[in-house]
Amino acid sequence: MKLPSPLSVIAVTALALASTVAIARAANESADPPAQEASADHHHDEAEDKSAPKEAPKPQPRRKVDPEKRKKFEAERAKYQKRLKDWKNAKKYRGCRFQAPQSFLVRGNFLKNGQLQPAAHQRAVKYRAEKYGILPGFNLDAYSAGTVGEQVVSARFMGLPIQIHERVEPALICVENRIKQQCSKHEKDKYKANGIGGLRVGNTYRGGEISNHLFGIAIDIDSGRNPCCGCVDPWPNHPLCKKKSASVYERTALTRCWIDSFEKYGFYWLGRDKLEDTMHFEFLGNPDRILP
Ligand SMILES: [Zn+2]
Repeated sequence: MKLPSPLSVIAVTALALASTVAIARAANESADPPAQEASADHHHDEAEDKSAPKEAPKPQPRRKVDPEKRKKFEAERAKYQKRLKDWKNAKKYRGCRFQAPQSFLVRGNFLKNGQLQPAAHQRAVKYRAEKYGILPGFNLDAYSAGTVGEQVVSARFMGLPIQIHERVEPALICVENRIKQQCSKHEKDKYKANGIGGLRVGNTYRGGEISNHLFGIAIDIDSGRNPCCGCVDPWPNHPLCKKKSASVYERTALTRCWIDSFEKYGFYWLGRDKLEDTMHFEFLGNPDRILP
């Protein structure tokens, strides 16, 4: 992936504190593997855990995939890509379906008192692997004949580069269009994003939870201005987290208009979670229902 050079510089600077994550080579990768993502918000979702982040999963030996399943996967993917292309090239903007996050995918619903609920969590993991592909090293091979890595695309959001899963790309385009239409008239609605992050290859969660950044379905916006008050140090020391009796909307520079725009299209705002991770949105809708 080619990053414009000023952004590369920013990204590299932002990474100064982070350990570099090696790209894990996905089994069965037919497309170019995604470039390393330099996201400014490294480790922010290291929930209630003070230990160092894990290394990216080690490359796994090439797994055997049923050729029939692989053929079916490739055929479905080609069909989807054609639909997406037609949608993008349509003379008139066709928009996306409105949808809500699916509740069984919402973090707070498979995590109780900081403990993963195994059956509920497994259901959410299985769904994501079936829809978005497998992640090498996570024992998900039975769920899909394709990898996440081969289905990630380089896109732009509000002019900024991002790597995101191709199934979710149209939802992000619709969020951007809505923001441009709805959030530019009044001062209270406006927001200017300076740095975003999408795909990551290193898991920052502990205890078996898999970050939606690994599936390429999460986006972080300006970690410096939109803190994660429930994350590990130093996050809780952020001035916005110290505000007394403030609602979560006061703990973020993002405007309601921006948050609402994401939520219209199936993104869940992690500001609603007990982590109060206000920089983070993840697509928890049904990706098959995005395109009209
Ligand atoms: Zn995030």
